[in-house]
Amino acid sequence: MKIGFIGLGNMGGPMAANLAAAGHQVLGFDLTAPMPKGVTKAASAASAANGVEVVITMLPNGAILRSVAAEVIPAMARGAVLCDCSTVDVESARAVADQAKAAGLGALDAPVSGGVGGATAGTLTFMVGGGDAAFAYTRPLFDIMGQKAVHCGAAGAGQSAKICNNMILGVTMIVTCEAFALADKLGLDRQKMFDVVSTSSGYSWVMNAYCPAPGVGPKSPADNDYAPGFAAELMLKDLRLSQQAAEAVDADTPMGQAATALYTRFVEEEGGKGRDFSAMLPRFENRHRD
Ligand code: NAD
Repeated sequence: MKIGFIGLGNMGGPMAANLAAAGHQVLGFDLTAPMPKGVTKAASAASAANGVEVVITMLPNGAILRSVAAEVIPAMARGAVLCDCSTVDVESARAVADQAKAAGLGALDAPVSGGVGGATAGTLTFMVGGGDAAFAYTRPLFDIMGQKAVHCGAAGAGQSAKICNNMILGVTMIVTCEAFALADKLGLDRQKMFDVVSTSSGYSWVMNAYCPAPGVGPKSPADNDYAPGFAAELMLKDLRLSQQAAEAVDADTPMGQAATALYTRFVEEEGGKGRDFSAMLPRFENRHRD
């Protein structure tokens, strides 16, 4: 396929490189990032989109997605698919999909989980919203960049799935960290705590696969002095998107709200920026009851 790829940062760069390595012709555009291996540099977003079958975007936020979409949609051939893999607000995803459809294009919101490691290894999970035909058309590309693509429903469903998942993840990380800090103060050994919880009803992906306690469980960012991994500020971004969505549809999400407030403090006031989101554990270790 001829593919336009816009946004070649930490995630987009390796994703585009994997598409090129699989034999696709990839035209890339980014304001600052260098071209990944095998990707041909386009002079603008519009020229990366001109005459290609699929345009993939991997951008920082919904406002940037909207402005890039306004530029690329008129440049795309009818029948082509605009596939946004960024994590953005549900409203922006739906607005861009509407514009694309009005121009005779297929549109998908296809945010990912798996981080930079998954992008590099081609093992991302895609959560996809949009029409059946566009999903089927783009699926071979998801199979190159990832190991799983779930078609979640209509436009916006991919972003909805992503922020609900990450709201669970953020809340679970916090409660796992506070439980370890409580266990410490109760004199309970961390390894024993892991042995019990990881095989009891408190188990979770956080505890079992990404344990925030150094030296306990499988290797995780905690074992690397909390270098990310998944940075606390990215978790905060997703939690804020969950709360923006909850407000828009009048959903009561008190735990999501509390997690957003805690990660806001952690990132903005407590040195959490640039650390893995599991560095909540040393934060709790050093604190007393409010
Ligand atoms: P990044 O900042 O490394 O990359 C974004 C790229 O977009 C940058 O290279 C920037 O120059 C480029 N860009 C910005 N405005 C542009 C424009 N108008 N035209 C062309 N290029 C433009 O960010 P990232 O870590 O690659 O994340 C990208 C998206 O993926 C975000 O929405 C993020 O939330 C999501 N995401 C990231 C991770 C992760 O672990 N990094 C995991 C899952 C999802």
